[in-house]
Amino acid sequence: ETKVTILGVPFDNITQEDFLKALYDRLVNKQKTFLVTANPEIVMYARDNEDYYQLLLQADYIAPDGIGIVKAARTLGKTIKERVPGYELMLGLLEIANIEKQNVYFIGAQEDTIELTVSEVERRWPNINIVGYHHGYFNHADPKMIEKVKNTDPDLIFVAFGFPRQEKWISNYLSQASHGIAVGVGGSFDVLSG
Ligand code: UDP
Repeated sequence: ETKVTILGVPFDNITQEDFLKALYDRLVNKQKTFLVTANPEIVMYARDNEDYYQLLLQADYIAPDGIGIVKAARTLGKTIKERVPGYELMLGLLEIANIEKQNVYFIGAQEDTIELTVSEVERRWPNINIVGYHHGYFNHADPKMIEKVKNTDPDLIFVAFGFPRQEKWISNYLSQASHGIAVGVGGSFDVLSG
């Protein structure tokens, strides 16, 4: 099966390698893309929050983030090929963005964390064009921030506010933007900078 549904959440049942291949194509073809990496907490939250559930259904891809999702599938008599950690997808996307010299925007985490994250990206992926970055402690409903990010013309946007905040913001952002791959990466900036 190419989709495995857990408590109504339709996961893409493809390997990490196939996720990255698909995202590579969408990046170079400038296809607007909403990527969600969902762990069990997200699935449980979506079960109790209809608005958030509807946001998840807008996603172009939902990756099974962690072994908890793979095990949940098994309990339901379904098979998910492999876990696809959000952090690994982020690293893979950075690799692709580096090869293709893409425009990347980073938004989220504390001020010092985002600054360290950007330094680390500059060091490890020097061909990425970092078009901007911002910490994650602003009013997420402010349309000015969407405008600000959009004006930098990013091909790829990493959003690290934690769920459900990051998915809400991405949905609003993509409704305004002409293109770009946007992905909520939770605590990944903390990991990359640490
Ligand atoms: N964060 C943010 N803005 C907020 C709340 C959280 O930028 O309003 C950041 C926080 O600094 C951390 C990241 O969101 O870097 C992930 O937070 P958390 O660990 O709570 O999320 P999870 O990884 O569990 O989704």
